[in-house]
Amino acid sequence: MAGGRVGIMGGTFDPIHHGHLVAASEVAGLFGLDEVIFVPTGQPWQKSEREVSPPEDRYLMTVIATASNPRFSVSRVDVDRGGPTYTIDTLSDLRQQRPDAELFFITGADALAQIVSWRDNQQLFDLAHFIGVTRPGFHLADAHLPEGVVSLVEVPALAISSTDCRDRVGRGMPVWYLVPDGVVQYIEKRGLYREVPRRADGAR
Ligand code: ATP
Ligand code: MG
Repeated sequence: MAGGRVGIMGGTFDPIHHGHLVAASEVAGLFGLDEVIFVPTGQPWQKSEREVSPPEDRYLMTVIATASNPRFSVSRVDVDRGGPTYTIDTLSDLRQQRPDAELFFITGADALAQIVSWRDNQQLFDLAHFIGVTRPGFHLADAHLPEGVVSLVEVPALAISSTDCRDRVGRGMPVWYLVPDGVVQYIEKRGLYREVPRRADGAR
């Protein structure tokens, strides 16, 4: 196809880690993708259970992590749209930018389990092929997926999560080798994920 085979890897990327990069690289190899576009999410409207780092920090960490791979790039569509990200908007925007490409949406086992609960999911499946990748601690079999619309693939298991990386930084534990070197340095430079000292009255 003229527009090429293009993978899309969406995520909060707070921070991006080697689990994301290995998943994207493995799917690119297995499906013969010409490129993979990483798409950091927009900022949620209100605080949910935790504060998400500013979009520009998450975007820049994603750029740093992917810079050395000529087939990886980063899109600002979700960051620039603002507000919470809906996959239908991500795919519609990228489809508009790449009308001739064949799109492959790459998602981990945990996120995939939510696909079936998305509204408009037929529309989603019309916009892209969906590829679910294995992730330690999550079982694809539990996802109850509609048949024939999602390809499931096994990727080298890396038991890394952004949640764990944030906790580690907060506890003063290293994240070297869990995230790319430049991301370790960016986290330190910007002071991300440091424990917020509790005030005496309990407020943060
Ligand atoms: P958090 O702990 O904050 O939820 P996360 O590690 O799950 O962070 P996300 O940004 O939420 O990272 O994930 C983006 C996408 O990457 C999702 O589809 C997720 O399932 C997938 N993913 C994340 N970590 C891994 C991993 N270690 N192996 C395979 N897929 C992963
Ligand atoms: Mg997650």
